[in-house]
Amino acid sequence: MRNYQSWGRYPKSEPNQIVPLHWLSEIQELRRFSRPVLAHGQGRSYGDCCLNNGGILLDTLGLDRFIGFDTQTGILRCEAGVSLDAILRLAVPKGWFLPVTPGTQFVTVGGAIANDVHGKNHHRCGSFGCHVTAMEVLRSDGERVICTPHRNAALFCATIGGLGLTGLILWAEFQLKPVAGPYIASEQIRFRKLEEFFELSADSDKNYEYTVAWLDCISSGAKLGRGIFMRGNHSSRPAAPRAERNGKGSFGGGFDAPEMLINHASMRAFNWLYFHRQRRDAVAQVVPYEKFFYPLDVVPGWNRLYGQRGFLQYQFVVPYDRQQAVQEILQLIERSGQVCTLAVLKVFGEIPSPGMLSFPRPGVTLAMDFPMQGRPTLELCDRFDEMVRAGGGAVYPAKDARMSPSSYQTFFPSWQEFTNFQDPQFSSDFWRRVTPAG
Ligand SMILES: Cc1cc2nc3c(=O)[nH]c(=O)nc-3n(C[C@H](O)[C@H](O)[C@H](O)COP(=O)(O)OP(=O)(O)OC[C@H]3O[C@@H](n4cnc5c(N)ncnc54)[C@H](O)[C@@H]3O)c2cc1C
Repeated sequence: MRNYQSWGRYPKSEPNQIVPLHWLSEIQELRRFSRPVLAHGQGRSYGDCCLNNGGILLDTLGLDRFIGFDTQTGILRCEAGVSLDAILRLAVPKGWFLPVTPGTQFVTVGGAIANDVHGKNHHRCGSFGCHVTAMEVLRSDGERVICTPHRNAALFCATIGGLGLTGLILWAEFQLKPVAGPYIASEQIRFRKLEEFFELSADSDKNYEYTVAWLDCISSGAKLGRGIFMRGNHSSRPAAPRAERNGKGSFGGGFDAPEMLINHASMRAFNWLYFHRQRRDAVAQVVPYEKFFYPLDVVPGWNRLYGQRGFLQYQFVVPYDRQQAVQEILQLIERSGQVCTLAVLKVFGEIPSPGMLSFPRPGVTLAMDFPMQGRPTLELCDRFDEMVRAGGGAVYPAKDARMSPSSYQTFFPSWQEFTNFQDPQFSSDFWRRVTPAG
């Protein structure tokens, strides 16, 4: 039985009806529904952009077929419910890789487009939408629109990063990138303060395709801002015969952890161990791509570790010249007494996203997880919003469950222009929360 919550499991939301989709040719006219409709992929969005309380959720996981794959050019066309892990299983043995991948492979192509996801190679390759060459969008009046960067280009730009609100993406075509095999030549380098992170990032972005850092958000005082910088390139090592992927752990067979499991003491111990897990300051390894890109996927139900109340992820970006906002936010967390369980820091590059409402933009981005503890957690995030607004940045809707309408409208001033492309039948909990148009 699928559950249709978001990954953060906050807020709770109850659709009126689930409509599983199986065949592109059999999808009925969506305007027959008297309630708002919304596509739902793998539900890997942390907040409420994939939720539709009281409305209709279109479950896209049955739209899971490949339509074409040119192994000479690396152009792949597939239905929108195909997941990134299925693409990797097909493409990597043939010498191709995703142009951009988020930190989990369990997202659908439709979800990757609707949130215009980014990865560790943003400084080199931009966002996922930069690599989409065509897609077909089904509007609620039954019209099927093929859009490309040159044909129906305005709908194309609105749909990339369009939060699923321009209609149902039926299929998409995009360009993969050639690779020699399934390995990544990676390095992990310990840094002791944020300045070191920024130096490492500036140095590495020239020679490394993938860069990102884990940040220790629990340690205080002189240790504030320390972490581990990870960088890598596709290795020329060819695939070795390997046992079928297995050994995926699972947390607790689908029950919730007691909330007290995550607290200052346990996270302090975890962060200490993580920071000191390598004996030397720098370690180089050649690792399978799954280990490099998707360390969290090893434990499928890890979001349940946060118990019934769930958790929030807060991800923002600020321009390079406002990078001190990262330090200020870390200090604010230190003073707040809230527990930041995971923090990931990255510098975005200059490549513009094609999406009208895309989140990635030049600057520094920090993503942080917090157990949901009600008002104190929400108030802390409101304080972050103020700082991000003052710094001319933005908060990522795919991770958001609580930002105010005025914050959203400041971060994404194109939202009004976007409503010209929104399908009148489509809406989400997120959209009703942040815009008057709902
Ligand atoms: C562990 C983890 C790590 C992550 N790391 C990153 C990261 O590094 N970078 C990043 O950018 N994101 C990251 N994310 C977020 C995730 O990549 C996005 O939220 C993604 O959009 C989820 O895809 P999904 O298939 O689960 O879609 P859902 O979450 O189900 O839906 C997301 C949006 O897509 C829309 N949608 C889905 N299918 C269609 C369709 N066929 N037609 C139209 N609209 C559709 C939905 O309506 C909704 O608005 C991460 C998430 C997790 C859990």
